[in-house]
Amino acid sequence: MRSLRAPRTLAGAAALGLAVCLASPAGASPVVATAAVPAIVVPAATTSSALAGMKVSPLAARVPSKGGATLAPGATGSLTGRVIVVDPGHNGIYRKAVNRKLVAAGNGKRKACNSSGTATNAGFAEHRFNWKVAVDLVAELRALGATVVLTRPNNSGTGPCVNERAAIGNRAKADLVVSIHADGSYAARARGFHLIISKTMAGGSAVEARSRALAVDLRSRIARQTGMPRSTYIGKGTALSSRSDIAGLNLSLVPAVMLEAGNMRNKADAKLLTSSAWRLKLAHALADGVVAALSV
Ligand SMILES: [Zn+2]
Repeated sequence: MRSLRAPRTLAGAAALGLAVCLASPAGASPVVATAAVPAIVVPAATTSSALAGMKVSPLAARVPSKGGATLAPGATGSLTGRVIVVDPGHNGIYRKAVNRKLVAAGNGKRKACNSSGTATNAGFAEHRFNWKVAVDLVAELRALGATVVLTRPNNSGTGPCVNERAAIGNRAKADLVVSIHADGSYAARARGFHLIISKTMAGGSAVEARSRALAVDLRSRIARQTGMPRSTYIGKGTALSSRSDIAGLNLSLVPAVMLEAGNMRNKADAKLLTSSAWRLKLAHALADGVVAALSV
């Protein structure tokens, strides 16, 4: 994978120096291995138009995956020169032998490579929801001029562990990372969206502050633009959840938030989450938030 752009700030340069063997801080960075191998270009005919020309790291074929996919800008716009990582949570395939292995989660903790994610009561899987929103968001961001990096190139593979998702964003020197999920709570009347931020990020307090600002901005956009209400069961009405166990956020050197777009186990939320028109509204709200965050 080629270098996408030079860091604009001293902090960015420092981040470069720190990148990025997250599982083993003293070890060699996987950046070197990734850079040595040419990307595989996916022909437009084999994927949706949103993903046309996608360049997939050959390391994405590893199990678990060790690389993402890069999508060039589709136009010039307000995100020209920006790199946005879109992380569709979980994977198309769940393999116990792979997904239960422990990886670094940040803050000195370890956790499973990845979980299966949840589903609606009718069986619409979260990983599929996440992928569909991600593709819609990729289309929006490319049209605004961004280079987009997906943490997984499809919804049919084993995909990357949670620590590798952070590493992909770090290697890309992303301006922002947006991780897309939906929740699964069986509690009565539990519905609505919330945004997760990390209490302690590898990027330090400035990155934590920018992540929080993005989450606060997205909170109002999502409610206003999609009609999904704030979570009734997480965040005590704030729709914000500050956690220390989310590897993809903890290990990030760049601003990153995780969206839980709704509760898939709630009938009213599931109706929205399974609607392609609603998902487009969500992708639009997310893209608007990205533009706003990078315009300040
Ligand atoms: Zn999830």
